[in-house]
Amino acid sequence: MEDCLFCKIAAGQIPATVVYQDDDVFAFRDINPQAPHHILFIPKQHIATSMADLRLEDSETLAKIFAAAKKIAHELGLENGYRFVTNVGPDSGQSVFHLHFHLLGGHQLQLRLG
Ligand code: AMP
Repeated sequence: MEDCLFCKIAAGQIPATVVYQDDDVFAFRDINPQAPHHILFIPKQHIATSMADLRLEDSETLAKIFAAAKKIAHELGLENGYRFVTNVGPDSGQSVFHLHFHLLGGHQLQLRLG
């Protein structure tokens, strides 16, 4: 999608520290990390602005995103735990409107979620 930051990152038009990619999934380090490991997982295609407009047809892509995140968490040695979250809309603080999931880990995460 034109003028979408994460579409441009997935297309290699804007630099990022890439940690994983396949035909459908792209993952890169967050520019403003909130934990020792803070990685963003996105669908390469702009299938949704957030989970609010996901469709059942997107299930396979979502499964691939979760599988990639699990693999990277294992490779990073996050066996003691991690968090995998997505923001939806203004009240969540969502700032980029291309579906993405935050993988956070590498230290004791704060328990407060809301
Ligand atoms: P959210 O607030 O859930 O929309 O998350 C968007 C995330 O994208 C934030 O954690 C930002 O730090 C991150 N971000 C914004 N621009 C970039 C960029 N150019 N490269 C990597 N991460 C970015």
